[in-house]
Amino acid sequence: PFEKSKGQHILKNPMLVETIVQKSGIKPTDVVLEIGPGTGNLTKKLLEVAKSVVAIELDHRMVLELNRRFQGTPHSSRLKVIQGDVLKYDLPYFDICVANIPYQISSPLTFKLLSHRPLFRCAVIMFQREFAMRLVAKPGDSLYCRLSVNTQLLARVSHLLKVGRNNFKPPPKVDSSVVRIEPRKPLPPVNFKEWDGLVRLCFNRKNKTLGSIFRQKSVLSLLEKNYKTLQALQLSQKEQMEDDKVAPNDVAVLADIVEDLNMEDNYGKDDDEMEVEDVDMVGGGGEGADFKEKVLGVLRQGDFLEKRSSKLTQVDFLYLLSLFNKAGIHFS
Ligand code: SAM
Repeated sequence: PFEKSKGQHILKNPMLVETIVQKSGIKPTDVVLEIGPGTGNLTKKLLEVAKSVVAIELDHRMVLELNRRFQGTPHSSRLKVIQGDVLKYDLPYFDICVANIPYQISSPLTFKLLSHRPLFRCAVIMFQREFAMRLVAKPGDSLYCRLSVNTQLLARVSHLLKVGRNNFKPPPKVDSSVVRIEPRKPLPPVNFKEWDGLVRLCFNRKNKTLGSIFRQKSVLSLLEKNYKTLQALQLSQKEQMEDDKVAPNDVAVLADIVEDLNMEDNYGKDDDEMEVEDVDMVGGGGEGADFKEKVLGVLRQGDFLEKRSSKLTQVDFLYLLSLFNKAGIHFS
C-alpha cells in the first residue's frame, strides 16, 4: 500500500516520534506545519502539544485515512489537512515546521521554507543522513559544499538526532537524521543571487585555490561580461539621470537558487572528474589581461589567492563578495 515514488516510509517507533516532538520545543500557542503526514503518527503527537496543525499531503488516500483517524476526536477541529504537492502550494502561516519528508524534495523544500514570509521560528525535519550532514557541515569538513554555505547564510542549522532505517516501515535504503533549522533574524543584508553566483564558482572546484579558479578563462570571461554589462547600464542610467536602483526581490531570487540547487546534484562529485579543458588566459595585452589583473588584484587584496573554498567561512565569503562588488565585479 505504500508508494515508493512518494517516499512513503512511516515512522513506526512511538518513542522516536515522542523525542522529535519534544525536541521541537512547540508551545501551546504554536501553529505547526507538517509536511507529508502520511498515516498521522507524528500528527497525533503534534496535536497534543500545539494550538493547531496544518498538514500538507500529496496522496489523497493518506488524506482520507488521516481525516478518518482524527474524526470525532477532540483534536479534529485543530487539524487542517490540505491535499497537494507542498512544493507547488502557497504555504499558510506557521510558527514551527515538523516533518518526516520524502527525501527527494529535501533541497527545494528547505529553500522554500527559508524564503517563506513571515519567517518561522524553527523547522525540525527528518532528512537522509548524508543530506543532513551536508546541511550542517562546517569549513574543513569533507561534506562542506554549496548547500552548507547557502543554508547557513540564511539559518542556523544543527544536527539533533541520528535515526536508523529500522524505525520506518518499510525501511528505506539509507539512514536518516533529524535537523533543526532556525532562520537568522534579521537575514544578512546580502543580494542572494550575487552570493550564490560567487559560491557556485568557488565550489565548482572546492579543493582548488581561489587563485586557480579565478584564472580560468571561462570564469574570467563570464565575470568580464557581467562587468561590461553593468558598466554600460550605469552609463545609460547616468545619461537618463536616474538612480532608481532595482531592489533585489529576495524571495524570487531564492526561488531561482532552489531551482539550480535542485538540478545540481553533483555535491559529491570529485574535483578531478569535473576537470575540463580550460586554460589560463595567456599572453599579454588586450582587455582580457587587464580584467584578469583586476580580479586577481581583488583576491590578493583580501589574501585569498592561495585559499580554498573548502576552508572558507561565511564571513570569508561575505568579505570576498564585498571586495569583488566594490571593484565593480558581479556574479549575477
Ligand atoms: N509523516 C509520516 C510518518 O512519519 O509516518 C509519513 C512520512 S513519509 C516519509 C512522507 C509522506 O509525504 C508520505 O505520506 C507521502 O505521501 C508524502 N509526500 C510525498 N511527496 C509529497 C509532496 N510533494 N507534498 C506533500 N506530501 C508529500
